[in-house]
Amino acid sequence: MKRKLKLFLVAILVTVCFLGSIQPLVNNTSIALAEGIKDELKISQVYSGFKLMKKEHIEDIDSTVFEFEHEKTGAKLACIKNSDKRKVFGIAFKTLPKDDTGVNHIIEHVVANGVNAIGNPYTGSDFTQYFTFSDKEDEFRRNMGEYLDAVFFPNINDGEMLFMQEGWRYEIDSPEKELNVNGIVYNEMKGRYSPTGKLCEVVDKSLFPNTIYRFDSGGNPVDIPKLTYEEFLKTYNKNYTPSNSFIYLYGNMDIEKTLEFINNGYLSKLKKIDFDNKIYKEKPFDKMKVVEDYYSLPMGSSVEDGTYLSINYAFDKNTDYETNMGLDMLEMLLHSNSSPFYKKVSQSGIGNFLGTVGDDIQQPMRGIIISNSNERKKEEFLKIVNESLNDIVKNGFDKELINSVLNSYELSIRKDNLSEERWRDYMDKARNTWLYGGDLMECFKVNSQIEKIKGKADDGYFEKLIQKYMLNNNYSSLVVLKPKLGLEEETVKKLNDELARYKASLSKEELNAIINKNKEFKKWQEDSLKLKKEKSFEISLEDRNKKVEEIPINIKEIEGMKILNHPIYTNGIQYVDLYYDTTKVPQDKLMYLILLTKMLGNVDTENYNYTQLNNAIYTYTDGVSIEAIALEDSKSKDNFYPKVLISFNTLKHKLDNAFDILNEITNKSKLDDKDNLRNQIQRIKTKIQFDIESDPFYYLSSQVSSYDSQCEKYRNLNYIPFYQFICDLDKNFDKNSDEIIKNLEEVKNMAFDKNNLIVSFTGDKTDYNDFEKSFKSFKNNIKANNLSIQKYEFDDSTKNEGFIIPSKVQYIAKAGNFKKLGYENSGKLAVLEKVLSRYLSKEIRIKGGAYGGNAMITDSSVMLYSYRDPNLKETIEVFNGAGNYLRNFTADEEKMAEYINRALFIVDYPREPIYKGSDSDDMYITGKTQEDIQRYRDEILSTTAEDIRGYADMIDEILKQNNICVIGEETKIKSEKSLFNTIKNLL
Ligand SMILES: [Zn+2]
Repeated sequence: MKRKLKLFLVAILVTVCFLGSIQPLVNNTSIALAEGIKDELKISQVYSGFKLMKKEHIEDIDSTVFEFEHEKTGAKLACIKNSDKRKVFGIAFKTLPKDDTGVNHIIEHVVANGVNAIGNPYTGSDFTQYFTFSDKEDEFRRNMGEYLDAVFFPNINDGEMLFMQEGWRYEIDSPEKELNVNGIVYNEMKGRYSPTGKLCEVVDKSLFPNTIYRFDSGGNPVDIPKLTYEEFLKTYNKNYTPSNSFIYLYGNMDIEKTLEFINNGYLSKLKKIDFDNKIYKEKPFDKMKVVEDYYSLPMGSSVEDGTYLSINYAFDKNTDYETNMGLDMLEMLLHSNSSPFYKKVSQSGIGNFLGTVGDDIQQPMRGIIISNSNERKKEEFLKIVNESLNDIVKNGFDKELINSVLNSYELSIRKDNLSEERWRDYMDKARNTWLYGGDLMECFKVNSQIEKIKGKADDGYFEKLIQKYMLNNNYSSLVVLKPKLGLEEETVKKLNDELARYKASLSKEELNAIINKNKEFKKWQEDSLKLKKEKSFEISLEDRNKKVEEIPINIKEIEGMKILNHPIYTNGIQYVDLYYDTTKVPQDKLMYLILLTKMLGNVDTENYNYTQLNNAIYTYTDGVSIEAIALEDSKSKDNFYPKVLISFNTLKHKLDNAFDILNEITNKSKLDDKDNLRNQIQRIKTKIQFDIESDPFYYLSSQVSSYDSQCEKYRNLNYIPFYQFICDLDKNFDKNSDEIIKNLEEVKNMAFDKNNLIVSFTGDKTDYNDFEKSFKSFKNNIKANNLSIQKYEFDDSTKNEGFIIPSKVQYIAKAGNFKKLGYENSGKLAVLEKVLSRYLSKEIRIKGGAYGGNAMITDSSVMLYSYRDPNLKETIEVFNGAGNYLRNFTADEEKMAEYINRALFIVDYPREPIYKGSDSDDMYITGKTQEDIQRYRDEILSTTAEDIRGYADMIDEILKQNNICVIGEETKIKSEKSLFNTIKNLL
């Protein structure tokens, strides 16, 4: 997996709720506090070859941080010790690209190929990183050993074949056939070239025309086939030495023993190798650079106003942590909906404010992006940006806006410290100090950085940042990314022509050599898949006997409303969820209900204009999420509960204010401002469009699941159907604006109903009484409505759709509802999911070259899917073979233990407080009991190979219904017309 630039979107109501299939709950690995951890390690002493350079207890992250250097090899090591049960090992190498072949990304895939341990390696623009973790001491050691073996002592015998599988290869099996290119990374990168992906790439090139950052470290599909196996080996041998590595340890572990393990088994056997691996800096520009480029749109799309414009700035260094934090906050100040800057740009008529882009590399950069614009408007864009920045410098930011940003930033840091995943963020921070020469201790002292910024905020701190880093910064670029119809087809044609030319240039012998190599590869693949020796698995006694954690829930009734109280430790954060019953909204108004959920919080209310409202929301909460959801009854097959879920979190002393704001939003929003309504519709449309372009998978899985379930049809209203609805509203806005307003008012009066309201509070035990008091005064404002309950019946005829998007690859899914066919939900299905995923990954990823092939099984449905797939028909054939595969499935006890462990890993994954509360709510609403969850887990443990074979018929029955949905490339979809009832341009 490769990650590059982050795109922060302008969406203010970020959905944080977690719903859908319920995962059984797990034992509490209580929140870490570093108290009571002793360490006797002394500075300058050497422990198993590692010299301790620095150590410091850092309150901000409740941890003690150690910095070591391995004397023999020069390897750097950071250890963050605290009482977290989760132990993490990571290793990173500095891997500087010198072209667009993606060599380091391919090395990452090949190195990780043989590893069984959990982990998610990735290649950034200047490093490649691997990590693994476990809560159990022995498993942690085993995983760490696997990764150390893989990076330093890989099995080179299979090197070339793995290179062909993971990187790229020619595919041809007889001389008359066409020559093709295939490979996992090749297809992975084909899928990354969405318009915004392309934009990020062009932005990088514009700011860093002479340094390594101009290259795409993941690899450009056009250049990947230029990489030779020799160059691949050479690059690996150069970079994968301890001297060029950074090791990361995290959690509650015996440091000395861990260092001993790393040294004795691995590093002591390797030597120090020095080579020039410096990241050179780009010389700042004298004046802004203007760069133009193109992205592809499918034939028949409209190119009018399809241009992206982006203004970008780069800065000098990454190691000034306070300024980096200041710039992050500045970004929030600028793109917040209530920011004067945001308003001026988005109301200027030059385009839609899409968001900002940023990357904390050696020379950090930030940028502002608008979409749906036009090349002609680039000067105007620049002018408006400069004018509004100058205005801010002159008049200063609104104090309330600054307060709201500081508050939400602080709250998010507090929440991060509670997160089970906080080690990821710390790993990134620590690694960056190694890459760019920062201070390992300083980078974690976020509280003092916040305090310093707070102290200066009133003295024009942010205004000065604008002056220094934006207005007076010539190291900047203006990128114009224009649409071009059929560019994709052109590229595909060019590639095919090139391959045909290359084939024609080959002598008979040379062509035969390629064909034979390909045959050798196919045979090797068959053999290695058969022989692949897995490490031995067993299920530990601890895992066998585990009782599923019971989340405490106290149920109280106030005037017919149910209060669910979950007293658990939350570090002072109060999590509040309100589940409004929306069964009274008529079916033909449901789209307006969804539109309403996306608009509230962004419109004026009786007492606030929307700027003030937005400031207040972020001053008293870290955002209010409003969403139309449906929860499926666990005991019946088609009963579901439609709700509007409102969620927020806050601190105790802000709870009353938070409820006041909620009262404004739900009871006093004014929906009749046509200009704002039009802006909101465009904003929502732009955001969905961006989501689909960057990763259409969620839209695909929701669409295909909806073919066979009324509940999924309801949920799916939020996805493709809503996008189509909002495009229509946008197009016919002038004609229909009165009607839209009328409908919104109508659903608003139905949505927030006192009847059947369920309110959930998750927080420290001692905080409940205060919560109840705040809620009691809020509840007086909730109205009860006496309308009648609606019965939803969705049309069952929509299925088998092909959706065309600007893409080089396909996303393919087939799904069905097993409950409707009379099968029961069971933990054994969680194991079946792992078995099917293994089968699909082997056929679709390893053999087919797609980036992913997997199965997903929920409480009622099965979905088989592929991700960034070069194929279409072949993949559906693989899906259709799943029943037969299961019928012939065999596995000994060890093999079954592996599948069972994988299923347990998911259900036992530690949950953060926010999710514990919502899981428990979910159980309450859907009628799932603690016994159900325990039984589900026990069923996982008791699954046998025979059980798996027993599901063959069920899978066949599901697949026979032929519920197919595909999102992907135009020519591919059109060439398989017969698969679909309809083919449409999605965007
Ligand atoms: Zn990858």
